[in-house]
Amino acid sequence: MLEIRNLHARIAEDGTEIIRGLNLTVKAGEVAAIMGPNGSGKSTLSYILSGREDYEVTEGDILYNGESILELDPAERAARGIFLAFQYPVEIPGVATMQFLKVALNEQRKQRGEAELTTPDFMKRVKDAAAHLKIAPEMLRRPLNVGFSGGEKKRAEILQMALLEPKLCVLDETDSGLDIDALKIVSDGVNALRSPDRAVIVITHYQRLLEHIVPDTVHVLYKGQIIKSGDKSLALELEANGYADVIEAAA
Ligand code: ADP
Ligand code: MG
Ligand code: MG
Repeated sequence: MLEIRNLHARIAEDGTEIIRGLNLTVKAGEVAAIMGPNGSGKSTLSYILSGREDYEVTEGDILYNGESILELDPAERAARGIFLAFQYPVEIPGVATMQFLKVALNEQRKQRGEAELTTPDFMKRVKDAAAHLKIAPEMLRRPLNVGFSGGEKKRAEILQMALLEPKLCVLDETDSGLDIDALKIVSDGVNALRSPDRAVIVITHYQRLLEHIVPDTVHVLYKGQIIKSGDKSLALELEANGYADVIEAAA
């Protein structure tokens, strides 16, 4: 589903290279974890996947279902099913969560050349998805993220993800220090979305999230490259021994 080949990318503003020859393959149905010390380029990688303009790809390619996505803007990527969960949720005063979700879903449909959903159709979808994720309907009437607890923000994010039915989900949970409730919301939500035609990339600094979202593959990102890949046991090894041994072995 995703094949990143010898990717080099830099910050557009000052030309600093952050991603330095990164290779990664993620298959449909797979949950891949990307781990690595702070400053390795994990968040940068997720922004580049989503198509943010602050970064320039200078070499290599990103293939999604066999086709390069480098020329696609963020909305076009989203329309094709690439979803990046926000590490820092934005607050939107005055816009009910429900309304925000409707706009997001209809924007995606527009990009795909599909008709706008009628309000009853939308309401049915959002209610089904909310029920599936055990989200109280009251939350949908409140402005998005305004005064939401950490757990509620996570629920809103997971609900948005579920509604957009992405094919490739990228979750950057790096430094956000999820409390145990939020951790459970995120992991239950992601586990509910696991399916043979969907891939999930979980970016995390700590092994803890991976006790709840058990990955098929684990990749260590360091200085803009994947320096080691393995199965879930690699995450346990990193938790026990830290990154030093893996970094030294790759040097
Ligand atoms: P990680 O998510 O692994 O902690 P990041 O992708 O956030 O790493 O950052 C990788 C490196 O790139 C860091 O040294 C960071 O300071 C730098 N960096 C990323 N984006 C920018 C930016 N827009 N401007 C300046 N430096 C940046
Ligand atoms: Mg960081
Ligand atoms: Mg980060």
